[in-house]
Amino acid sequence: MSGAPFQHVAIIGLGLIGSSIARAVREYIPDMRTSGFDASEETRAKAKALKLCDHIGSNPADGLDQADLVILCVPVGAMEQVLADIAPHLATDAVISDVGSCKSSVIAAMRAKVPGHIFIPAHPVAGTEKSGPDAGFSSLFQGRWCIVTPDANTDSAAVERLSRFWQVLGADVETMDAAHHDMVLAVTSHLPHLIAYTIVGTASDLEDVTQSEVIKYSAGGFRDFTRIAASDPIMWRDVFLSNKEAVLEMLQRFSEDLSALQRAIRWEKGDELEELFTRTRAIRREIIEEGQDDAAPDFGRSHE
Ligand code: NAP
Repeated sequence: MSGAPFQHVAIIGLGLIGSSIARAVREYIPDMRTSGFDASEETRAKAKALKLCDHIGSNPADGLDQADLVILCVPVGAMEQVLADIAPHLATDAVISDVGSCKSSVIAAMRAKVPGHIFIPAHPVAGTEKSGPDAGFSSLFQGRWCIVTPDANTDSAAVERLSRFWQVLGADVETMDAAHHDMVLAVTSHLPHLIAYTIVGTASDLEDVTQSEVIKYSAGGFRDFTRIAASDPIMWRDVFLSNKEAVLEMLQRFSEDLSALQRAIRWEKGDELEELFTRTRAIRREIIEEGQDDAAPDFGRSHE
């Protein structure tokens, strides 16, 4: 295969992200071999029916010795166990990577379980609130960022190959320090999820507003929070526990800003509210200008 950065990728975890990688490899690097494994028998059966990979193994070691790239696509809390399971079966020169939403905890697990291997943590900043092998699609990574977090000792040629892999799948690659990644994602992704989970939880616990009213009038902003709050419970449990320090730091900042807003409302400081809302509107405009979201009303959401 000419020009392809790897010959054979093994994907462990065939949910939204793993199945999207499998589909994207099939579409954009058709000569690359793919093998897959998932802990769930039901998911393995679905993956076979969907023909996601050339080979779906019945244990994580199946076919691993052939793979020159291994990508862990399991919840962050499961990474260490999976690494321990696969470590004895890896090809010595294979590149081990992952897609976890937080990086410091995964790096610690990789250092502990596969110290002799080249490991390059990565995080494609792309996803939906859905999970499972049916939810994936090949264009998920198109125009999205993939953040790679090697340390100073990582083989730069291997980083280059992994970056090339993600670029072929359509992503723009950025390299970042793992701790910085965890701080940035705490504010751009983890905190918004926590807020959405809280708002939806609060609304469903109210005594004076019925659950059916919350659902009936949801278009008034609540509905967009429910989309985020529908995200996979296991994945997000693991994200908050694994990125605890950075999330708590951002939560502290958020609480202080919320108190300031509370005070502005109490003392009717309309100019303070207007100044903040004008700044936040500009951020939304910049996200659209950078092609990271749809400017269409309703976020371009389809209504079929
Ligand atoms: P998902 O759809 O729930 O898929 C995860 C899959 O891993 C499930 O099929 C799960 O099986 C399987 N699994 C769990 N433990 C396993 C183990 N020990 N060995 C093998 N397979 C195992 O989740 P996802 O959204 O693809 O997320 C996967 C990873 O991508 C997570 O680390 C997440 O942080 C990261 N990520 C997610 C997004 C997003 O928006 N969803 C974006 C970027 C990165 P069961 O269902 O049976 O548990």
